[in-house]
Amino acid sequence: SGEFRDRVVCVAGLGVSGPPVARALSGMGAHVVVVDGRTDQTARERAAELRTEGVEVALGGEELPPGSELVVTSPGWRPDSPLLVAAARSGIEVICDVELAWRLRPANQTWLAVTGTNGKTTTVRMLEEILRADGRAAAAVGNVGTPIIDAVLPGTDGRAPADILAVELSSFQLHWSATLRPYAATVLNVAADHLDWHGGMEPYARAKGQVYAPGTVRVTNQDDPWSRHLATTRGDSGAPLAGFSTNRPEPGELGLDAGRLVDRSFVSEPRTEAVELARVSEMAAADPHNVANALAAATLARSVGVSPEAVRTGLARFAPEPHRISRVATVETVDYVDDSKATNPHAAAASVASFGSVVWLAGGLLKGADVEELVRAAAPRLRGAVLFGQDRARLRSALAEHVPDAPVVDIPDTGPEAMGKVVSAAAELARSGDTVLLAPAAASMDMFTDYNERGEAFVAAVGGLAPSPPE
Ligand code: ADP
Repeated sequence: SGEFRDRVVCVAGLGVSGPPVARALSGMGAHVVVVDGRTDQTARERAAELRTEGVEVALGGEELPPGSELVVTSPGWRPDSPLLVAAARSGIEVICDVELAWRLRPANQTWLAVTGTNGKTTTVRMLEEILRADGRAAAAVGNVGTPIIDAVLPGTDGRAPADILAVELSSFQLHWSATLRPYAATVLNVAADHLDWHGGMEPYARAKGQVYAPGTVRVTNQDDPWSRHLATTRGDSGAPLAGFSTNRPEPGELGLDAGRLVDRSFVSEPRTEAVELARVSEMAAADPHNVANALAAATLARSVGVSPEAVRTGLARFAPEPHRISRVATVETVDYVDDSKATNPHAAAASVASFGSVVWLAGGLLKGADVEELVRAAAPRLRGAVLFGQDRARLRSALAEHVPDAPVVDIPDTGPEAMGKVVSAAAELARSGDTVLLAPAAASMDMFTDYNERGEAFVAAVGGLAPSPPE
């Protein structure tokens, strides 16, 4: 890490990854300049805090600081933003937090990587539980929990970094991580999302395929054509291949057989018999898509020799993160479920498929994704729908085509009162035994700070329906 002493490093973006990156680099003696176009209160507060720690911060513009030798960009910045274009033009290297962490990691630290359109956070948390149940010093990093840069450096209390990381990677981060070589990796699935950032499905999938780096054990979702395709076309053909599937496993795969997760792969140790790993009935999160996530986590864990018992224990211990199919309340025999994290059509489709008769709450920013397939798949389960947010008209016309008889309520409000109206309208539509499901299929930033705030607004609105909370 001496390589950063006195070097001028531009950190682009004062969001989630920027501050910990700036602190780490500054701690290594780099001259850090953080740049962010925003000037809102959050940005000003973060800037003030960093300045007291000796980090230079330039707000309200996106100029490349003079003398920059390296840019560490926030994964959210588009490659065509002026600062990144200026860096490229001057031949200055651009990397993201993940690539920086990779370069700084302890030599003996093992990385198991998870990417895909949906299920990343869930899978790395499951993997963390499994690894810990096996007695490993493991940590999950990504969207929730410790910033990745802090997972590779000794703690301020002198504690050593974890021996093994379960790393969640977005397509943006992979785009900016040229030398990353995880020990094993999986692309869980690929469906339309963030197409506006990547400029289409092909570049989006290609960025994800980069997780199958030279030498990386290729863990593939046999049920997802893109996952299989990327492992064979982008991955290292000399590296081991292990598939997982929610069907009965072929030799060489992990899969599902009569309610059991079984391993017929040779990725861990040579064998001829199928090994039972866990039972679906013992898993806390057992929706079909979570069984797929569990199989992905189990396959990655088995690739580093984790025992079947640890897989079983870890999956039983795993508890879902908030706003991911979380049961909020039952009011007058109607269940209210918060899946605010279903931020794209593919996630919302998995979500709706987890329930019987659904009053569906959807809308927001679709990010260029198509909703036809989602609405067609959801149609047979829909009692009705309540739509909100900027791109709701696209959902409305798809619903009119595929479920012309289902009632659809349109909520044009964009203020904080909107979610209250959404939930009241849903309560009107619901009949006994229905599930009122918030699975927006879209990003939240047109109305909320993020999916957390959207989920909290839903929980609060449901709380307003029930005169007294359920026991
Ligand atoms: P990510 O980190 O990739 O955003 P999460 O684990 O946070 O994924 O899950 C987000 C949402 O995606 C869930 O609430 C659920 O609606 C959906 N989802 C999770 N796993 C899958 C999967 N394997 N396939 C399809 N949808 C999924």
